[in-house]
Amino acid sequence: MAVQWAANVAADPSRNFEIDPAALIAVHKDARAGGMPLLGYFHSHPNGLACPSASDIAQAAPDGLIWLIIAGGAVTAWQPIALGAHVTGFTPVPLIVEG
Ligand SMILES: [Zn+2]
Repeated sequence: MAVQWAANVAADPSRNFEIDPAALIAVHKDARAGGMPLLGYFHSHPNGLACPSASDIAQAAPDGLIWLIIAGGAVTAWQPIALGAHVTGFTPVPLIVEG
């Protein structure tokens, strides 16, 4: 497993996040070429709420990948709920930390 850092290119990065598209495309290309599959995305919430925001729901892709949200000293995991091409919410995913 590896973590690929990407720039937050949102117009207001203190309130929103948008993964640098070039970094995201590079990860997808690498996975298609036999590299590690993309498991999901992570970001933080400076407001301390470790649950998906309304803008997370609005911006999520119905790709089934895991979203980790870091906030308030917690890390939570979520998976988008898709209705066709739209995400209608997230469902929590248990995190098991071993080792
Ligand atoms: Zn968020």
